[in-house]
Amino acid sequence: MARVKNWQLGREMSYWYPESRPKKQFAAIFDTNKCIACQTCTLACKTTWTSGRGQEYMLWNNVETKPYGFYPLGWDVKLLAELGAQQWNGSVYEGRTVFEAARPGERALGWRPGEQDYAHPNVGEDDCAGNIDKGAAFAGVHMAWFFYLARICNHCTYPACLASCPRGSIYKRPEDGIVVLDQSRCRGYQECVKACPYKKVFYNPMTGTSEKCIACYPKIEKGLQPQCFVNCIGKIRLAGFVSQPEDANPDNPIDYLVHVRKLAKPLFPQLGLEPNIYYLPPVHVPAQFSQQMFGPGIEHAVREYTHADADLAGLLGLFGSTEQIVPRWKRTGDFAYGLAEDGTELVKVPLREPIHERLALDPKFDVMRTNCP
Ligand code: SF4
Ligand code: SF4
Repeated sequence: MARVKNWQLGREMSYWYPESRPKKQFAAIFDTNKCIACQTCTLACKTTWTSGRGQEYMLWNNVETKPYGFYPLGWDVKLLAELGAQQWNGSVYEGRTVFEAARPGERALGWRPGEQDYAHPNVGEDDCAGNIDKGAAFAGVHMAWFFYLARICNHCTYPACLASCPRGSIYKRPEDGIVVLDQSRCRGYQECVKACPYKKVFYNPMTGTSEKCIACYPKIEKGLQPQCFVNCIGKIRLAGFVSQPEDANPDNPIDYLVHVRKLAKPLFPQLGLEPNIYYLPPVHVPAQFSQQMFGPGIEHAVREYTHADADLAGLLGLFGSTEQIVPRWKRTGDFAYGLAEDGTELVKVPLREPIHERLALDPKFDVMRTNCP
């Protein structure tokens, strides 16, 4: 095994191939605080990519309610239990990754879900953690909690699917780091299904090959955000490209939130894949839970989010504001601007939407109106 740098772990780790980073790395940020679990993203993906035979059960994008929602069943808790203690010392991970904990003869610690595990994608939906006594409703702020976790393939820097494929069918595109699967090479061994800790590779029993999210790369190549992003009702998503921490550029919205403000966190960084979908953690969830899911620095991220300054408020307003990828951004006064690489304005968003108060009785049309500020 090679020794590679994983900045999310704050240390080197063992991986099956030497470190080889793409020219640019596709990445995204999801704001968990704005997701309403409407599943529009899920359907946008489904109708675009997985409406064929053998794909019925596949959800390349899914949204589950945490802590009790899973697709497939128990995808995360099962692996975490097997992995054992996952200790952080500040920002350095001291436990084992899935590669370091692999059983003899295997490339990553993993498990293969059964048919039934995929049968209930909405299991645990809106179920609360915490006790609600018999007959009681909400008795206080945050006594009970849940949140929605939208998930796609993480287009990992160190993909376990890629490492485990005996046919070499999976590769990272050098131009954008998107992880794709060559179905003409695949023989359906499903080692990738077993190895991906996020369970984002799916086996198609009709074709006998595996399939996965491709980050809508035909759109990315045209400078557009993927389908699940542009259809997101809650405007929780922003697609772009992430740099290594030492190359972070504050003008790049992804770098700004991940590296500069340290607000956006990876999903289960301790597994060691350096996933490239980042999350703004839920503000109302116990920090211990969020830390296990998103790594260290949760208190800082929540504090920054809940006390957003003008820059942060402006940048968050750019989420879901345009179909185009926004590689650069800036805030001037009361407006945030999404910019192209050459500085051309792509979109302009006010920090605060103006409030228009209308007369309750409209004399022109002779109707009564309700104002909803
Ligand atoms: S999330 Fe899973 S399928 Fe996607 S790149 Fe990572 S290991 Fe592969
Ligand atoms: S479309 Fe957006 S708000 Fe709706 S479930 Fe998907 S991520 Fe959440």
